[in-house]
Amino acid sequence: MHLRSAFFLLPAIIAALLVATWIPQASQAQFRNSYGGRQLPPARPGGGGARQAAAGQAGVYPQALFNGKVVRWVADQMPLKVFVSRGSSIDGFMDEELGVPRTNVDGKQRWPHLVAEIIENGQINNLPVSEGFVEPHYEAALQGINYWKAFEREGLFQFVLTNDPSEADIYVFWTHHFVNKLGLGLFANDIRGYTSKEIFDYRLVMQGKQPLFQPVVILLRTTNQQGNPMSNEKMRASAGHEFGHALGIDQHSTNPYDLMSVYYGRGVISNNDAATIRYIYKHQPDYIP
Ligand SMILES: [Zn+2]
Repeated sequence: MHLRSAFFLLPAIIAALLVATWIPQASQAQFRNSYGGRQLPPARPGGGGARQAAAGQAGVYPQALFNGKVVRWVADQMPLKVFVSRGSSIDGFMDEELGVPRTNVDGKQRWPHLVAEIIENGQINNLPVSEGFVEPHYEAALQGINYWKAFEREGLFQFVLTNDPSEADIYVFWTHHFVNKLGLGLFANDIRGYTSKEIFDYRLVMQGKQPLFQPVVILLRTTNQQGNPMSNEKMRASAGHEFGHALGIDQHSTNPYDLMSVYYGRGVISNNDAATIRYIYKHQPDYIP
């Protein structure tokens, strides 16, 4: 699942966040060092017109766009570096006002800042292993993420795994179960993961603005509704689904047979998912993570 609910409820917040995170100089830590000083490619015209084609293009689900806008990584960010922790939990960091973990799903839009913080202060190297995590979960998550390698071969994007937790673009951590802002456990549903990413107006980046990029954060649930370890099959689907969000697919396909539906489809990338990721990566982005 992936909800950027605050952005939808309070469009003003996103504007404020975007403005607040622009910094004139690289005075603070940049988490995309590969970005520094590089010239981004010139904008190509036609992004808007191309979007109109979506409606008539079989297989592309419009929910993949963010309010009708294309969100995706650009060539200068490639290869994306992906850090999949071996079971690490970040649930121990508390929201002192709410008295609940900062990983509560209602505060999801702040997860990138939490991870940025623990990268900077080194706590990322000392995280406990999530309850419910079993070693095969790690391999299953990699398999799910690697579903998307098929599109790397088509030239849409590139990603590599990294073992260095200080340099990644996309981070995967784990949780026994999700909680809301009241600290109540979300046990009953089949939500197996969440992805949080901050996005930046690509036009402004092209005009020379230098955003303080934030890590994209994926949390995967280690247990199912019964509290037993998540099956490897479900974990693969879960990781594949969340990585689809990390690549740019915003909301969910309404077709239950798609991996990017809330039902995880058949657990693999469907033809609609494929058409959709191709569509996104063949169009000029409006926002980049
Ligand atoms: Zn989702």
